Amino acid sequence: MKIALIAHDGKKAELVSFVLQNRSLFTGTDIFSTATTGSHMEDAGLSVHKVLSGPRGGDAQIAAMVAQGQMDLVIFFRDPLGKHAHEPDIQMLMRICDVHNVPLATNPAGAKLLLIGLKAGGHLEE
Ligand code: PGA
Repeated sequence: MKIALIAHDGKKAELVSFVLQNRSLFTGTDIFSTATTGSHMEDAGLSVHKVLSGPRGGDAQIAAMVAQGQMDLVIFFRDPLGKHAHEPDIQMLMRICDVHNVPLATNPAGAKLLLIGLKAGGHLEE
């Protein structure tokens, strides 16, 4: 099970604490993150595969993995109050998730429900 975890700057701390608080739901998953989000995860002792930083093409790299059938779930804690130079890439990633019917959560409540659902469906190891 491959999961993408991305957070905008205003949401990075929230994403790290979400993962730490729900650690058991990530058992048996391979986590892929944009570079800065990934560094925050590593600082918290989590192991992740890092792609480029979002503004430098990382969201596009994650989208490419989704398009190629290499991503099972995308968790993207967007900051709805911020402006982002790479907004087109963000929209593109969400669009590609919809094109390929890949589950996408943009906030902790949705992410938790999706992870619980994947676990209940036997997609995640105990
Ligand atoms: P970052 O990218 O993890 O490199 O900050 C996230 C984003 O803004 O897409």
